Amino acid sequence: MHPLRVLLFVSLALGVAVAAALGAALVRLGVPQLEAVILGVLAFAVFLLPWTGVALWAFRRAEDLGLLIDRTQALVEGDAQRPITDREYHGEVDDLARAVDALRVAMLREASWSAQRRATLQQISASLGEGLLALSAGGRVVLANDRVSEMFGLEADPVGRPLLEVLRNHAVAGAFDQAREGKESTSRTVAGSRQIEIRVFPVADSPEVAAVGLFIDVTRLEQLQRIRKEFLDDFSHEVRTPLAGLRSAVESFEVGEISPEQEEQLRGVMLRQLARIERLVKDLSELNRIESGELVLDRQEVDLNAMVREVVEEFRERLADPFTGQPPRLTVRGEQALAHVDPARAPQIFLNLLDNAWKHGAGEITVEIAAKDGRAAVRVSDQGEGIPPGELDRIFHRFYRVDRSRSQTVPGVGLGLAIAKHLVLLHGGTIRAWNRPGGGAAFEVRLP
Ligand code: ADP
Repeated sequence: MHPLRVLLFVSLALGVAVAAALGAALVRLGVPQLEAVILGVLAFAVFLLPWTGVALWAFRRAEDLGLLIDRTQALVEGDAQRPITDREYHGEVDDLARAVDALRVAMLREASWSAQRRATLQQISASLGEGLLALSAGGRVVLANDRVSEMFGLEADPVGRPLLEVLRNHAVAGAFDQAREGKESTSRTVAGSRQIEIRVFPVADSPEVAAVGLFIDVTRLEQLQRIRKEFLDDFSHEVRTPLAGLRSAVESFEVGEISPEQEEQLRGVMLRQLARIERLVKDLSELNRIESGELVLDRQEVDLNAMVREVVEEFRERLADPFTGQPPRLTVRGEQALAHVDPARAPQIFLNLLDNAWKHGAGEITVEIAAKDGRAAVRVSDQGEGIPPGELDRIFHRFYRVDRSRSQTVPGVGLGLAIAKHLVLLHGGTIRAWNRPGGGAAFEVRLP
């Protein structure tokens, strides 16, 4: 029981005892019993009047205080929404309640500010596009944006958990260890198929955050750098050969004393090598135009059967050139096959396939045109050596030539199929190559 209550009950008992003692004393002094009792009761009543006032005051204060303590406890435990002053308190307890309520309002304001700050921080970190992770001095994750979870395939929310439990990656753990010792670092790691650059910085003046890490996905960048390097390697390789041919021809001229036949031969060499360089530059700029999206197709409904037959005719005419030698045996079979293509661009696809069948293949070249599953299909096949099965995909890569030494004797720079493939893709079609069971290569183009 509250000491105040004990005190009140004790004082009440004392009042009763004093009144009873007064009554007894009066009887002993000869006052008749009835009057003594009445006087005793009166004395007790006089005592009871202020006692009741004090008791009521004290009980109310005790009750108010008890309530205020309960409500303050609830506030401490997180129930800050309910106002403390939603009931009336008495006297000083009311003043105390108002003060506690002002504290509650300040707490709410602070909580809303920090929620806003956190939300802003989350928005900034989410819109970063890169992974962001902050760590406490104790090694727990304080902040991590979705990009981090996506990069490292984290399933649960990492915030609040130890880094080592969330992300088992040596490079990341090492970088954060260094940062917590005050050292900034940049390193690389691999997560699945991604290459990730890790930059971790120490944070000096924050009670909450000891280190911040930035994760940058450099997969695409590395890929582009590799493509760029490969391209330059291939390009210089392809240019070097005709240039060497040209140089030796020019040097032979400079030496002088050459017979008219030798001169004729050297001129032939020079023209061939120049043609090769011109072809390389022309094909490259063509491929570049297609790949960069610069080339805009003007698509119309066209009968591929008629188009391919025209290309074959043009090809036959081109083969009348003494440089390309004997005309091949060429058979065209087909029916009407309507397709939605650019009549100025699509012929290039078939011309490149025919050119390859003639250069790399042998025997008879067969061209078949058909309408298949709502698409127009053109198949070009030959009876040559075919393509090594492991390289069937790679022949569509730019500068790729199956056997460079064999290819040296055959004109070409390895761009024909890359151009054909990109043109087909631009038309929304597909192209594939395979080896025919009886020998020789076959290519099929399907166009919408
Ligand atoms: P290029 O013909 O200029 O060498 P392409 O990109 O047209 O370049 O072809 C790439 C490579 O694919 C060729 O170098 C050749 O090795 C191979 N190839 C293409 N067509 C055929 C074919 N019909 N038969 C055999 N090999 C082929």
